[in-house]
Amino acid sequence: MLLRLLLTLIAIVVLLRLLGWRPPAQRPRDLPPPPPQTGDLVQCARCAVYLPRAQALARDGLWYCCHDHRDAA
Ligand SMILES: [Zn+2]
Repeated sequence: MLLRLLLTLIAIVVLLRLLGWRPPAQRPRDLPPPPPQTGDLVQCARCAVYLPRAQALARDGLWYCCHDHRDAA
């Protein structure tokens, strides 16, 4: 009886594998957090907030965090 059950289960697994079934993938291990962005930071000349240079707006050699602050300067 038990042997028959085991053989049935094995047959089911073999059939599923033949049909392309794969056991659910293990959740990948938690990856280490990405390194902090170390790009150059610039300071808004208006509100003094620091932001990445790539996101800052420049005018007259000064950096600004947004159009409002740039235009208000
Ligand atoms: Zn600002």
